[in-house]
Amino acid sequence: MKADSVFEVVKQSVSMKEVAEQYGLEVKRDGMVVCPFHADKTPSMKLNKDYYYCFGCGATGDAIDFVARLFGISTRQAGEKIVADFGLQYDSKAPRSPPRKTATKAQIAKQRELYTFRVLAKYFRVLNRWLTEYNPKNPEDQIHPRFMEAVQRKEYVEYLLDVLMSGTPEEKAEICSERNPDIRRIAHRLTQINHEKPQTAVER
Ligand SMILES: [Zn+2]
Repeated sequence: MKADSVFEVVKQSVSMKEVAEQYGLEVKRDGMVVCPFHADKTPSMKLNKDYYYCFGCGATGDAIDFVARLFGISTRQAGEKIVADFGLQYDSKAPRSPPRKTATKAQIAKQRELYTFRVLAKYFRVLNRWLTEYNPKNPEDQIHPRFMEAVQRKEYVEYLLDVLMSGTPEEKAEICSERNPDIRRIAHRLTQINHEKPQTAVER
């Protein structure tokens, strides 16, 4: 079994967008599609070159995960399906390339980008939820701190996500840098939020 080679050939040959289109999804110019994994009204799913992320339901993964989930098949079957449907070639008898001991620079950068993207997208979803959940119902209501936070931070987080989606490699690298204090703060904030007790919108 040369399980790796199917995955390798898919990764090297097709983009997330090509896979989505192949299986009937309509990809907008900005890479957004209507999410097939939840009852999506507006396109909530973003397709990056190598992975997808749904702002509505949080579904994420690479092209093979996508096809596996779409058809309810294993990742191995999904890989083979993509190979067949795209007419890709791979030598199933080729010797497997020796496992790399250390991740390449590009792999590390990719991991880092995926991590940063997840942190930002998660925070973005939380803020969006808070905007409705903590929206003051009456003019005399005190503004909830979570509503304030959502109002103050949403635009900036949206901007960072935007750069991550469509910025230059340099701009992306800057946001994804381990030294970027913004991302660290947001990751820290997410941990805090996870530990906070549920708050009611009418706290006084
Ligand atoms: Zn979704």
